[in-house]
Amino acid sequence: MIVVDDLHKHFGGFHAVDGASLEIAEGTITGLIGPNGAGKTTLFNVIAGVLDPTSGRVTMDGEDITGLPPHTLFHKGLLRTFQIAHEFGSMTCRENLMMVPGGQSGETLWNTWFGRRRIADEERALRAKADEVMEFLTIEQIADLKAGQVSGGQKKLLELGRTMMVDAKIVFLDEVGAGVNRTLLYTIADAIKRLNEERGYTFVVIEHDMEFIDRLCDPVICMAEGKVLAQGTLDEIKANEQVIEAYLGT
Ligand code: ADP
Repeated sequence: MIVVDDLHKHFGGFHAVDGASLEIAEGTITGLIGPNGAGKTTLFNVIAGVLDPTSGRVTMDGEDITGLPPHTLFHKGLLRTFQIAHEFGSMTCRENLMMVPGGQSGETLWNTWFGRRRIADEERALRAKADEVMEFLTIEQIADLKAGQVSGGQKKLLELGRTMMVDAKIVFLDEVGAGVNRTLLYTIADAIKRLNEERGYTFVVIEHDMEFIDRLCDPVICMAEGKVLAQGTLDEIKANEQVIEAYLGT
């Protein structure tokens, strides 16, 4: 589905991504691991159009998507989750979800009676969709709470929920487990698994929690110093000498 070919991202003289090549197969939940500073987040940001690459190529289903902006990738079904921005914290969780498809009801529609009716219909549809998403993620109880007030884990589920408001094909998740308690971590893992199995989402997940990776990810890709060191099952990766060396070196 995604092919990354000899990707480089330099910050000045520093090579954060230094010739990374990898493939993400459709229907997988691929784990991306590696020591801090390995270039995982930078790689995500380049694939998701947040950063321009210095060189290299990214294709999705055979189409060159290198350097396309996030909103174009969004319409192709490639999404990267982002933390709920501070300014959206005072909106309710449901409203945060309803914001996602954004920009579809053109302003001019407001000028006509039909327009107003259409917007009301759209709003009802969006609200129903948001409620369905929260039910799927088992967070119905936070629908009317302000997003800034819910727990870290619930926020992560809400971030995941935003990808469900549109027809995502592939979702890039950056450290879903960071600062989340075990119970919610398993709820998140379960939601990812169900989205993968029932809705055909492909996932790429950066995560440090090996139990989480073990539960969820096959294959696992290990990066270090901007390069891909190894790809395989978690057991294969753990037994790989280059991987062991990379972790020991940090
Ligand atoms: P990881 O996600 O594997 O921990 P990152 O992609 O966040 O790694 O970072 C890789 C390296 O690139 C780090 O050494 C980091 O300091 C550096 N880096 C990341 N973003 C920038 C930036 N905007 N400017 C300069 N250096 C950066």
